[in-house]
This record gives sequence, structure tokens and C-alpha cells, in this order.
Amino acid sequence: MQYQKLHHLQEIITQKELDVAYLSDPMTIKYLTGFGSDPVERVLALLVFPDHDPFLFGPALEVEAIKGTGWPFPVYGYLDHEAPFEMIAAEVKKRVANPKMWGAELGFLTVTRLRALKERFTNAHFNFDLTPTIEQMRLIKSADEIDKLNEAGKWADFAFKVGFEAVHVGQSEQAVAAELEYALKKHGIMQMSFETLIQAGPHAAEPHGATSDRMIQDNQLVLFDLGTIYDGYISDASRTIAVGNLNERQKDIYKVCLEAQLTAQAAAKPGMTAAELDRVARDVIEKAGYGEYFIHRLGHGMGMSEHEFPSIMEGNNMLLEPGMCFSIEPGIYIPGFAGVRIEDCVHITKDGCLPFTHTTKELQSFN
Ligand code: MN
Ligand code: MN
Repeated sequence: MQYQKLHHLQEIITQKELDVAYLSDPMTIKYLTGFGSDPVERVLALLVFPDHDPFLFGPALEVEAIKGTGWPFPVYGYLDHEAPFEMIAAEVKKRVANPKMWGAELGFLTVTRLRALKERFTNAHFNFDLTPTIEQMRLIKSADEIDKLNEAGKWADFAFKVGFEAVHVGQSEQAVAAELEYALKKHGIMQMSFETLIQAGPHAAEPHGATSDRMIQDNQLVLFDLGTIYDGYISDASRTIAVGNLNERQKDIYKVCLEAQLTAQAAAKPGMTAAELDRVARDVIEKAGYGEYFIHRLGHGMGMSEHEFPSIMEGNNMLLEPGMCFSIEPGIYIPGFAGVRIEDCVHITKDGCLPFTHTTKELQSFN
């Protein structure tokens, strides 16, 4: 059912005895309505009520696009010179004369906008934060969300293929990133989910570094971390490849990181905790003597963004459940020497997990 998530939210706000929910995070609106837009300057809001149909409110120039998604409920547009909160208030009051209990995404509601609502609803309380509710809903992905994540993953695999072929000694990291993004755009994939990361040699030991104008050199490990957006859903995957001949230490950190990744991916299943899964990968790296060089959590939840739940880390006792999606991305970063990270995002199934990306993880060598 197309607006099942929206109906679910309606049930939740009824249970919580809210009179109205005001949603303004564009990602939440996309999640609940299928309509995606990112107006920062203009007002875009979804209003949900326990006993009335929801409505969308946005810039007049977005109204046709909203209708084009098949949105069956009211949508109201405002022109640049009009007062959006005056219009929102009038529509709300037609449905609920005196709404007291409001839910909103408090981290997203600016002080200016909150004030605009409070001025028009002087008896209202805006204390109920809907962000945890939405996060909880987004934690378990539906079949159609998994389809989109698989499609986004397919384009990440394509990007790796193009990127690996573009790797040559004397080529810059930036040039390789440009090649693969150009190929994606020609195929209609217009957006990456984050800035493509390509790091050669010792540069890869900075896991939060950026793609630079450094040249790829012979006998280096080169780390790729990239992702695409497909219909609002992301991919996120990392591979590390070899250029020329590697020495024993380079080969060893690759082998250990790969074993950690494969072991964790094979172990992930419903009923274990996020912390236990982190531990599976960390044990492999610690036993090989590289524990001090694995300096981040094993993974993060993902879906519409790469900042979702569950967080796969020490201390998180959340049980893994079918439909949860997250990365499994152990890394070994030895300052001044090299860095390796191998990452697939997966979704938990009835008895294990399945990855969204399928590029081989065996060490590949390019010249
Ligand atoms: Mn990544
Ligand atoms: Mn990641």
C-alpha cells in the first residue's frame, strides 16, 4: 500500500494523543509521501492529524511535482510574497479548532518557524519530539525500500568498475573520482550519496580525509569509498585495490581486514546485538595485532541517508532484526603507511544478511 507509512504515523500520533504533527525534515517528507525536495529557504511541511487527512504545504512552484507523484490528499502552495505560516495556521484551524498538543521534529524546527507557529497557536505545546518516532519507523525497511537500496547498490558496483579501470600510476585521485562520476551521470545517476573518496597510499590512513590532487604511485593500496542515490535511497561501499606489487605488510593488512569483513558479514543475523557484531570483526583485527589501527565503529545504519540506526558499535545492545540495513566496514589505518577499508551495506534477512553491493572483495591489482 502506497501510503502505509503515513497511515502508520497517523496511528502513532493518535496513540500519543497529539492533535497535530508538523513534519518539516525533507527526508521525512520524502519517506512518508514519496515527494522529494530540499527547500532550505522556503517552507515545506507535512501536517498529519489523528482524525483528518494529512496535507502538504509548500512553495507554489512545487505543487505540480507533488501532484505528479499521485499524492491523493490536499496540497497547498504559497507564493513568495505570501505568509506561509498564516496559511498553514488557517488550514490547521479548519480541521482542528484549537490544537494543543503538537508533535514536531524539534531538531529541524528553527526558532523562527517555531515562533511563527506559537504566535498563531498561543495555547499550544510544542514539546513532543517526533524525530525518535520517525527514526524508529525508518529502522525497519520495507520490501520496496530494499528494492531501491539494491538498485543504488548496483550503481555503486558500476562506479567501482569504471573507477578501477581509471586507476593509473601518475593519475590523480580527483581524476579517478571524476571519471566514475561522469560515467554515472551519463547513465542518469545524477547524485552521489556523499563525496566520492579516493585515497592513494599513506593518504588512506586518514579515514576522514578527502579526495585530493595527489598522484597515484606504483606499489600502493588505493582506497575507494563511494555511493549513489537512487530514488531517494543510497548506496555506500568501500573497496581497496592494489597498484603494482605490494609488500608483505600491505598484503597482510588487506588480508586481515578482508577476513574481518567476511567473518562479520557471515555472522550477521537476527537476534544478535549490534555490539556482538562489532566484536566479531574487532576480534579478527585484534588477534592479528592491528587492534589499535581500527579506530571507528564497525558500521552505521543506512537507507535514505548514511546516518540512520542501528549503529554497529560497542555498547549498543539493540537486537538485529529482519529489515534493518547497515554497513559492515572494518578498516585498518596505519599512519604514514597505508589504509584499508572494505565495506558492504547489508540488510538483515530471516536467517542472515544480504549485501547491496557485489564487487569482488578479493584483492585486485591494477596498473
Ligand atoms: Mn563508505
Ligand atoms: Mn559507510
